[in-house]
Amino acid sequence: MKMMRMTGAWPFLEFASAPISPPMASQEIESLSGALARLPGLGPRSARRAVLWLVKNREQALPALLDALGAVQETLVECETCGNVDTQNPCGICADQRRDAKSLCVVEDVADLWALDRSRLFSGRYHVLGGKLSALDGVRPEDLAIGSLLDRVAEGGIDEVVLAMNATLEGQTTAHYIAERLEEHSVRITQLAHGLPVGGELDYLDEGTLAQALRARRPV
Ligand SMILES: [Zn+2]
Repeated sequence: MKMMRMTGAWPFLEFASAPISPPMASQEIESLSGALARLPGLGPRSARRAVLWLVKNREQALPALLDALGAVQETLVECETCGNVDTQNPCGICADQRRDAKSLCVVEDVADLWALDRSRLFSGRYHVLGGKLSALDGVRPEDLAIGSLLDRVAEGGIDEVVLAMNATLEGQTTAHYIAERLEEHSVRITQLAHGLPVGGELDYLDEGTLAQALRARRPV
């Protein structure tokens, strides 16, 4: 009963005084695990599992991964107009003349831009803020791409600005701030509707979401 022995005090003392090998296999694995653990959504445990998987599948998986990482390093750039990440500057969306130049959708991050664009429901162009206002994290308006947004709108030719911030307190504070700053321009400011998710059941919704859904109700 190994587990039983581990609960007592003395086996630990015995264990600690015994000559043991270092906890991780090698410096290489340690540093790769550490690098992966810094990725969003990956903690130290899952990073180590990913490294182990890579080691086991190195013949098939590593060359493709190294190529992809190299391509990211060498070819990807940030679009100076909208903040999107692409292989060209201006990015494919900004350069696409078929896009509706009159509509501009403002998002917090590039991932939000990609999510919206995958839906193919918005035919205009985008503006990536690079985050959201946050008193807690010390993010001020000048830390975000709000100045360049106002410049784009001031240049003219834009009729509608869609504020597509996340439905979080900070996201909505950011949207409110931008709406105020845009007031002096003659653009229509709209916001994504909040409320009932597709497939959602009323019984499971939190009060905030339910309240938003009620407020945003529309004629059938
Ligand atoms: Zn762009």
